[in-house]
Amino acid sequence: MVDHRKLGRELEIFHSDPLIGAGLPIWLPAGAAARQAVEDRIRERERRAGYQHVMSPPLAKRELYELSGHLAHFARDMFPPLRMSADDELMLRPSLCPHHALVYRSRGRSYRDLPLRIAELGGMYRAERSGVLGGLSRVRAISLNDGHTFCAPEQVVGEVERELALIRWAHAEVGVRVSGIRLSLRAPDDAVDDPAMWARAEAVLREALSRSGSTYVDGPGEAAFYGPKIDIQVRDDAGREMTLSTVQVDYGRPYRFGLEYAAADGSRRVPVMIHRSLVGSMERLFAHLIEVHEGAFPAWYAPVQLVVLPVDAGQLDAARAFREAGLDAGLRVELSADGSLGSRIRQSAVRKIPYVAVLGEREVAAGAVSLRPRDGNALPPMPAADALHRIARAVAPA
Ligand SMILES: [Zn+2]
Repeated sequence: MVDHRKLGRELEIFHSDPLIGAGLPIWLPAGAAARQAVEDRIRERERRAGYQHVMSPPLAKRELYELSGHLAHFARDMFPPLRMSADDELMLRPSLCPHHALVYRSRGRSYRDLPLRIAELGGMYRAERSGVLGGLSRVRAISLNDGHTFCAPEQVVGEVERELALIRWAHAEVGVRVSGIRLSLRAPDDAVDDPAMWARAEAVLREALSRSGSTYVDGPGEAAFYGPKIDIQVRDDAGREMTLSTVQVDYGRPYRFGLEYAAADGSRRVPVMIHRSLVGSMERLFAHLIEVHEGAFPAWYAPVQLVVLPVDAGQLDAARAFREAGLDAGLRVELSADGSLGSRIRQSAVRKIPYVAVLGEREVAAGAVSLRPRDGNALPPMPAADALHRIARAVAPA
């Protein structure tokens, strides 16, 4: 593996500028293109899995975080409030959960609405000390692939099992290399408000893990402040382990937020809240993906999928037309015409571009291109339309 900070710079995936500050990376065009492709693929899968997507602002009134418990348990990790007036303070959110609880509460709910699955790729903020910040793996502005399922108590195990299956799908899709699964529990001597609730949440998570055939270890002292959680771990190139995906069962937040639903018998009941992230934050995910793929992302989310190389100026018009046809076919395409053909081919290899199309005099006369796939030998010239078709098929969703 390689350090994602070095390769991320070389491949122009992200940029850190002292004028913006530590832990606040900019996604450059290559990184933004790859990230958008991954976000789109995951959003589509979530939609098919019954999630409804929302968009919520990354800050809220101080009172929201008093209600959620974040200020009592988590204030050290939050940025200081933005004071608008003596009785009006806004805070950057440390998680999306409170906003999603308010989505649930935005109208009356009945048992027929459950499970209600809410998802968002949203911004959140952590006041990490500057000493621990580095590249994309520890940042202060976080773009989280988040989701919350509100369900009846008897639906919880099935929902957690379903989330574990979705996480496995997502990892296989983007190429995450899992180093282990941890059941994060409170420390044995930790006092909590409601030990019975914690015990119930732990039992549910163990049941879902065992039903899904997952091997895991216990992690005492690693729980969230509101409950135990399943953490799916990855390692960086230096061997440090960190959490990427999580599933958490929370019986407490719905009480604090006064969430309820009308049961089939007409009584008012309190739902259970499942917090989950399929691939964690986009920042940590890409730190990991850059390292495991050594920058050679699968073609479907490669920043540039095809580079078009005319041998000399005589083929420039044909090369431009081929680039346009590639863009119209939905591909991310670049044209490179400066310098020797050999050096342009080498540059494309350094940038790990999945397909190179060479247009020489012979190809242009025949309406053809010569394709060189990143992972194989150069192919004999083929009609331009066939080449685009072949690439479009290779980068299409499975
Ligand atoms: Zn949450």
